[in-house]
Amino acid sequence: MPIELFNTLSGKIEELVPADGVKLRLYACGPTVYDYGHIGNFRTFLHVDVLRRALALEGIAVEHVMNITDVDDKIIRNASAAGLPILDYTRRFEEAFFEDLDALGVEKPSVVARATEHIPEMVELIERLRERGCAYQAEDGSWYFRIASFPEYGKLSKKDFSGMNDGARVDVDEYEKDSARDFALWKAAKPGEHFWTTALGPGRPGWHIECSAMAMQYLGNSFDLHAGGEDLMFPHHENEIAQSESATHETFARHWFHVRFLLVEGRKMSKSLGNFYTLRDLLLKGYKASAIRSLLISVPYGQQLNFTFEGLAAETAAVERLRSFALRMRAGAWGAETDAALLAETEAAAEEFQAALRRDLNTAEARAAIFELVRKANAAADAGTVGAANAEAILALLARFDSVFQVLGDRDAAITGAALDWAEAEGRMDSVPAELLAQRSLSDEKIDSLMEERMRARKSRNFARSDAIRDELFAKGIIIEDSKDGVRWRRK
Ligand SMILES: [Zn+2]
Repeated sequence: MPIELFNTLSGKIEELVPADGVKLRLYACGPTVYDYGHIGNFRTFLHVDVLRRALALEGIAVEHVMNITDVDDKIIRNASAAGLPILDYTRRFEEAFFEDLDALGVEKPSVVARATEHIPEMVELIERLRERGCAYQAEDGSWYFRIASFPEYGKLSKKDFSGMNDGARVDVDEYEKDSARDFALWKAAKPGEHFWTTALGPGRPGWHIECSAMAMQYLGNSFDLHAGGEDLMFPHHENEIAQSESATHETFARHWFHVRFLLVEGRKMSKSLGNFYTLRDLLLKGYKASAIRSLLISVPYGQQLNFTFEGLAAETAAVERLRSFALRMRAGAWGAETDAALLAETEAAAEEFQAALRRDLNTAEARAAIFELVRKANAAADAGTVGAANAEAILALLARFDSVFQVLGDRDAAITGAALDWAEAEGRMDSVPAELLAQRSLSDEKIDSLMEERMRARKSRNFARSDAIRDELFAKGIIIEDSKDGVRWRRK
């Protein structure tokens, strides 16, 4: 069945179906690689990931193209401050970005396209705009898009530009949200800046033209879905539409998907407020990648998420509860008799889970259906009514849930370990809490061998020794759980 999704362009919730009936063609604006990604960026990439995975559950294949902006105003400024050529400067942030996506369980796009590797396509597009009278060259050699040549300008962001000032120009990549001005397609070379020699003259592309050129190169003039953060709606996406549709006279993207901003502790995230966090900042505070993913997707994409540390702690516990529950369902010795009521509850939860995702990707209701089932199944397991068929049905549903939410598989220790290795290489260990450093010195093998020693101590009734081992592990952030199904340990 199709997923229904809000379309910013039409202002309505619409069915999302591939125009060619085969593959859904999706373009998502990628990162500008001038720094490490922050949790606001990742909330957008995570919701695009959830959408892709939800489509996969419906059996819809996706051709997903994402750009890497590896030349723009900020990159040029930062690279020159660091005394590096722009490509050397951007490459390490690009690598870090993909490491972070992997840590968060985000699937890689089908195509990753770097702006600097598509300069000829951008030049060709600008030349087509010139031929159609939509682009002109200014005195300094830069090329601009003539907004007045595209009367539909503002149709995505629903802004009224009827009183706009024809000929007013802006040459920065990002600019104020309420004025329509002719924007730079190609920026003439400035002294000391990296430039390309092209038919348009020496210079570099503006930010907006890259997405139009690369989207159309890989997906065609007209494609199904364009995604990005809500901050990109104007001017970036509005400009993409103007450039692309002026060049082709076809609808650029039929459906537009925008992910809302997050707040941090109730306020807009900003460096000056001290509430600005990269993924790496959070990992180095001891928070788990799985809990960060889970929290960032817990609120539907169209609603604002208020990210708080209290919420992150609660999410950590919620992920742990889910993992313990999955383990319990797998490990239990269930009887032949089936709990019919629980089986019906499981079927209802499976339906509600899928229906919630189809309802404009409502992640909050989808997970609520699963959490509610976990509560009921735990109660049934405590009461001893769970049968083998119940456990099987529940595990099948958990696998479907996890194919979208991606929190049950535990890679947290390895991800945190990699973040610590990175922090050490970058000289950023000062702020790492002592407990995390202690955990780092304890490999899984070392913990397993201490667990075995504790077991032997208990068997020989040497409780002083077994308690000492438990306390030592606890001090290093390792929690031991004894239950009738056996003993296991986990990192706090
Ligand atoms: Zn873009």
